[in-house]
Amino acid sequence: MSTHTQKSPGLNASPVAGERTPYEDVRRRFDHAADLMELDPHIRKIIAATTNEIVVHFPVKMDDGRIEIFTGYRVQHNNVQGPFKGGLRFYPELDIDLARSLATIMTMKSALIGIPFGGAQGGIRIDPAKYSQTEIERITRRYTYALGATIGPEYDIPGPDVNTNPQIMAWILDTYLSTLPPHERMRSIHSVTGKPIESGGSLGREKATGQGMVYLIEQWAKDQRFSLFASTFSVQGFGNVGSWVSRLLTQLGPRLIAVEDATGAIHNPEGLDPELLARYVASHGGVVGYPKSTAIDHDAFMRTKVDVFIPAAVEGQITAEVAEVLNARLIAEGANGPTLPDADAVLERRGIHVLPDILCNSGGVIVSYFEWLQNKRSEFWELEEVDAKLRKKIVTAYEKVRDKARVQSIGWRTAAYIVALSRLEKVYKERGIFP
Ligand code: NAD
Repeated sequence: MSTHTQKSPGLNASPVAGERTPYEDVRRRFDHAADLMELDPHIRKIIAATTNEIVVHFPVKMDDGRIEIFTGYRVQHNNVQGPFKGGLRFYPELDIDLARSLATIMTMKSALIGIPFGGAQGGIRIDPAKYSQTEIERITRRYTYALGATIGPEYDIPGPDVNTNPQIMAWILDTYLSTLPPHERMRSIHSVTGKPIESGGSLGREKATGQGMVYLIEQWAKDQRFSLFASTFSVQGFGNVGSWVSRLLTQLGPRLIAVEDATGAIHNPEGLDPELLARYVASHGGVVGYPKSTAIDHDAFMRTKVDVFIPAAVEGQITAEVAEVLNARLIAEGANGPTLPDADAVLERRGIHVLPDILCNSGGVIVSYFEWLQNKRSEFWELEEVDAKLRKKIVTAYEKVRDKARVQSIGWRTAAYIVALSRLEKVYKERGIFP
């Protein structure tokens, strides 16, 4: 559960009044990096603010004829490098603060990787499990319609995130295209990424975030002279990111020994088969009850001794308290914002390495960029080409972060922010501020 907003027992301590929000946490990291690199104060002011914040309330007819009003968000943080870009989540805890934090993270990610996108994020405040498929389709379409021309293929390009998937992207695309004059539709397929292949998606997009993480974990292990072959890992969240990283990482030898999702946590020291587990989750809705596993509680899950711990669920999971008991060499952040700022210092003190979110989970937006490019050029790339280009981009960013951290003797997260902010600072210095 997100420690920012939900109460739960044990290590997952609940927030107390006055505790920081996700956006304040991101701002704190931004400020820390900006102070260290002595970011130009004028540019700092610009990057510290979001550009547009869209909140929409829209009615949708339910299957039983009732009308419900939903609230949707789209925060567009910065587009100095290219169109706003970022995920849409269908999430009961989504609010403007969380959307701001995720949109800011997206700007940093695009700048770090060096792709011509800015940052945005949004979605609908909803628990999708409470609605039928036909209701979700109408809610998705009505939200897209409510956003209207505030999104678009050269302006703001949504993609999948928590509780959204290729089918939802296809409904967004279809609704968006329906609002355009007929002659503009075919040249606007790149208005959404993460689409199903037949609707203009890219090979390799579905697994992209997990694939990028595996390339980085491999590179990290090489640098550390650490053999992954007989190693172990645990994963929190077994959706798109968690299940793909598990499937791809086990192919290199590591054993998945513990998994937690929204339904609970399971453990098997002999190893869990991620393919079978993914099938079980698809039919049972969660990991709990998976055969050949023992149920464990959240505290035991967080304390499980592993070589690599992969948070791939929601933000705010690794508090300072959790950081004290994590029993891992490396944390590879699949989720956005899984570690709170106070936990960073604890992890550093304990010598636990961190591949920070803006680097570690950037495979998703990298292949979204490839999808956007293919659509614009009416091309269709082979999987090998997508994977090779992904590996090159993500490992190049890794090397920049690693080298910056080494040279300045700073943590990898701060190094990643400095690489990203330096690029943004350069663009603003080159272009100046209008008028
Ligand atoms: P998803 O909806 O496919 O899966 C989310 C998983 O997290 C599910 O298994 C769910 O049960 C679990 N979960 C939710 N709340 C939990 C909780 N409180 N405790 C434990 N488990 C919980 O979402 P996803 O697309 O895999 O995204 C997961 C994370 O990765 C998010 O932070 C997202 O922003 C980030 N991310 C996703 C992508 C992408 O391409 N999908 C790219 C970059 C980053």
